[in-house]
Amino acid sequence: MARKQAAPHGSMSLRELLTPKESRAMASFGVRDLDAMMRFAPRRYSVPAPLRSLREVREGEEMSAIVHVLEVKDRRMRSRHGFILEAEVSDGDEQLTLTFFLTRPHQVEWHRGRLARGTQILVRGQARRDQRGHPQLTHPQYEEFEDTPQGRREAMRPLPVYPLKQNIKQATMRSATQKGLEFAGSLLHPVPQEVLDARGILPLDDAVEKLHAPWTESDAAAGTRYMAFEEAFVLQTIFGQRRAIDARTPAPSLTAEGPLQPAFDQRLPFRLTRGQQEVGRELVERVQRTHPSSVLLQGDVGSGKTVVALRAMLRAVDSGHQAALLAPTEVLAEQHHRTLTELLGDLAAAGRLDGHPDATRVRLLTGSQRTAARRETLLDVTSGQAGIVVGTHALLTESVEFASLGLVVIDEQHRFGVDHRRRLREKGPQGQSPHVIVMTATPIPRTAALSTVGDLDVLTLRESPGERAGVTSFVVHEGRVAWEQRMWQRAGEEIAAGRQVFVVCARIDENSEDALPQALFAGEDGEEPAPPPRGVTETVSRLADRPELAGARIDLLHGRLGAEEKQRVMDQVVAGQIDLLVATTVIEVGVDVPNASVVVILDAERFGVSQIHQLRGRVGRGEHAGIAFLDTRAPEGSGTSRHLQMIAGATDGFELAELDLQRRGAGDLVGEEQSGLGRTLQHLDLMRDAELIGTAREDAFALVREDPELSAHPALATAVAIRLRAAENTLERS
Ligand code: ADP
Ligand code: MG
Repeated sequence: MARKQAAPHGSMSLRELLTPKESRAMASFGVRDLDAMMRFAPRRYSVPAPLRSLREVREGEEMSAIVHVLEVKDRRMRSRHGFILEAEVSDGDEQLTLTFFLTRPHQVEWHRGRLARGTQILVRGQARRDQRGHPQLTHPQYEEFEDTPQGRREAMRPLPVYPLKQNIKQATMRSATQKGLEFAGSLLHPVPQEVLDARGILPLDDAVEKLHAPWTESDAAAGTRYMAFEEAFVLQTIFGQRRAIDARTPAPSLTAEGPLQPAFDQRLPFRLTRGQQEVGRELVERVQRTHPSSVLLQGDVGSGKTVVALRAMLRAVDSGHQAALLAPTEVLAEQHHRTLTELLGDLAAAGRLDGHPDATRVRLLTGSQRTAARRETLLDVTSGQAGIVVGTHALLTESVEFASLGLVVIDEQHRFGVDHRRRLREKGPQGQSPHVIVMTATPIPRTAALSTVGDLDVLTLRESPGERAGVTSFVVHEGRVAWEQRMWQRAGEEIAAGRQVFVVCARIDENSEDALPQALFAGEDGEEPAPPPRGVTETVSRLADRPELAGARIDLLHGRLGAEEKQRVMDQVVAGQIDLLVATTVIEVGVDVPNASVVVILDAERFGVSQIHQLRGRVGRGEHAGIAFLDTRAPEGSGTSRHLQMIAGATDGFELAELDLQRRGAGDLVGEEQSGLGRTLQHLDLMRDAELIGTAREDAFALVREDPELSAHPALATAVAIRLRAAENTLERS
């Protein structure tokens, strides 16, 4: 809908504007034109220490002072090789000593040259007082200074500090943006001036000036605020446009009240929770619409989303259409297929003697199916015999044609991009678009949802059905041998009691070249980098040697096994023929083994917060209480350890999501979980900007209502196109 343009119209190329060195520095951040450069924000500002009269100097404080030089002395150090240079300076009231320890005579000369008697200087450093209370600065910074009101203002300006990469100097980044400021008049103005005025946000030209060359900290904050608003506004325009497109697209209205869905309800071995009933009603309201609805159904692992979604799928079949359920992996698709078939019983046995008269067929379609099975399935899909089709991405390929697809349910949305959802839109009957329900067990805090999946309606299942015993998590430090022993002993006890154990590794082989998942936290803030994680293969042989696990039937599962092998292993796990399964995160989502009671996550710092939460959701699903061990080789008390403790202590997915958002900021949270738009957040801070995102959304939606094509807002249309292109690029790279 937005007009595509190859480049932001008229945006100046940096090569014309900057020196080759400056434009190379910018290009290393992917910044190639003026518009991008002026929106490339400083990471922080360095604020000069406050000006002090020498009388008020306090011990240990960072200070600035304007002083003149009284006298300079130097002498050779007796104990060490080198010189001491001392300059006595005064602010007319009190004196201060500047001390320098120097190794070479020319350094002494250099300072003497700059500190001639009577010279006025601005000096900065950390103040000390000697035994007699006389103030001192050791190795201060200083420069000649003309004391005028303007000079004082200049001296106190916050300095932008840009992100740096190897071989790039801060000064290069600064001189580049300062040059850019002279051309601020030619920047793209995506947000209409009336909108900015109404919200009390600076106009763009002022904003970039304040962002890159502030006079005060509140200038810098105002510049930052503009950038956040602009970003939110462009994103919300995209979401507004998507909703506008949906509002003009026809969808099959799923209105039938039976016979399948009520028959299924009667057959359920449990009562739906209040939350499930409520969300069920909300879903009915949405799939009845004559335009495609897009819903994000979020709820913790085990909150019963699948049942809710299945009821909506049956409604689609009852209404004469089909429903598709998409899973991120084949293992999961197979498992969903099995679950649905079991839950439906004779309702899924159409065409068989034992089938219910109103039954339909539930078909599985995966990439690795044999040609014959695949052909049979495709036939059922195309003819409409299969009311429900379960599959992986394979379902999205062009060759799969549905007789009449009315509803698509996507399990675990973080593996699917915006783009996938768009492709599904084209799969409905006769130019119609199916309704879409995206299920996620990674709850997204509201503001994050608004900024990343703002085109979806969010429905939430908060309570979980009561009978689950739940999970307790512990952090285990490998450095403490006794803890590690206790952990495996505990696993052995559970196995002896007839339970099962999952052990999760961050990779398949220890000597493989595969890219390693990045360790959270470790390596930041001067912490030791995380050790290379252990592999599935090696872990299996190590565990086979552990006395605590003697006699346990151990097997392994990972993505490199063939489909049949994977299936065999999963079947054996479900049948209780494997006691301990060592696996990669293929077991992360959805795998349902009620008999499993322990999960050990090795090198837990290699997993994302939500991944850990998903993984521990694999146990404690039945009547047996679950235990999750977050095993790490990071030392106790380290940042990694504290981070894992935090995860262990938070029980509910919502609590975790909020904690994670506070600790890391949304860019990362979203980056880990979402594809596309969310991953490219540049200025928005989802905690800080919650309110601003709300107002940007109101304003952008109002604008799109008036002008869905943005024909009166070409600059906004261009910004939208740029944003979408950036999102596509990250999607391709991921
Ligand atoms: P989710 O998909 O949200 O992780 P599921 O739908 O797979 O959760 O449900 C988890 C387990 O709880 C399944 O075994 C399911 O049959 C069961 N379950 C779902 N709803 C209820 C309910 N209302 N009462 C009891 N058990 C339920
Ligand atoms: Mg599920």
